[in-house]
Amino acid sequence: MNEVKLNNKTALVTGATSGIGEATAKHLASLGCNLVLCGRRAEKLASLKMELAHYQINIITLCFDICDYNETQNSINQLFDAGITIDILINNAGLAAGLSKIYEGEINDWERMIDTNIKGLLYITRLISPKMIANGSGHIINVGSIAAKEVYDNGNVYCGTKRMVDALNLSMRRELAEHNIKVSAVHPGAVETEFSLVRFNGNESKAKAVYEGFENLLPEDIADGIIYMLTRPHRVNINEMTIMPKAQPVASVIYRNKGL
Ligand code: NAP
Repeated sequence: MNEVKLNNKTALVTGATSGIGEATAKHLASLGCNLVLCGRRAEKLASLKMELAHYQINIITLCFDICDYNETQNSINQLFDAGITIDILINNAGLAAGLSKIYEGEINDWERMIDTNIKGLLYITRLISPKMIANGSGHIINVGSIAAKEVYDNGNVYCGTKRMVDALNLSMRRELAEHNIKVSAVHPGAVETEFSLVRFNGNESKAKAVYEGFENLLPEDIADGIIYMLTRPHRVNINEMTIMPKAQPVASVIYRNKGL
């Protein structure tokens, strides 16, 4: 089958401090992939690094806010100055802030989502992709959402940012394929992570209610899909993968309390 082996490659994971990014980092580590773990919470980065220390891999932590181009550039330049080659970029950092009608939305929430989900992803990609081109290889995985494919009530701006990720995924693939760089997207449905806690500004009962009465996805399910895409043979590119809970057939429908 000639699966691509991930040992001795180096993957940079944005949003590695929690949820899907953290699960992906753990799975990559178990396959011998060196890691650059990114996020804003230094203590979480440090504890993940410690947790993965028993693997025979190199782990670097980079603490920066992906919305700030200068911070992002300075952090990524540290890698380049140290001669580190990034083979895999997991563009995962992102968030939803709020859930309200377009005519009632908080401007600050909109700015955070646009700055993180779109501009942050662009900043990282702009910094890393030229190096991949120079190396003549690479694989970028963009974490989108089912919200990129179907809008849901009150999801307006979040859905819009993820629709943009979907469009960027296509553009990146179109432009990077000739440089031998693969580009793929994963579009998850409801995964229990810190996502809803962040969306509802730390309100635990609201966040918990999102996942009540059905079997939501686990971050490991998305990590699994990412690893599948990364390990296909050299000739194969998985353009995108949509992963949903069985009980969520479309974005806006979740069958609860039915044992699904
Ligand atoms: P999560 O547990 O809240 O993780 C989000 C990650 O993004 C954290 O590691 C966070 O790290 C990082 N992040 C957020 N803002 C950042 C910033 N300004 N700078 C740097 N890092 C930042 O949520 P998740 O569910 O794993 O989300 C991961 C991705 O999956 C997101 O793009 C999300 O939109 C997408 N997604 C999630 C779901 C779901 O149901 N959970 C469904 C579809 C798509 P720090 O806080 O340490 O900075």
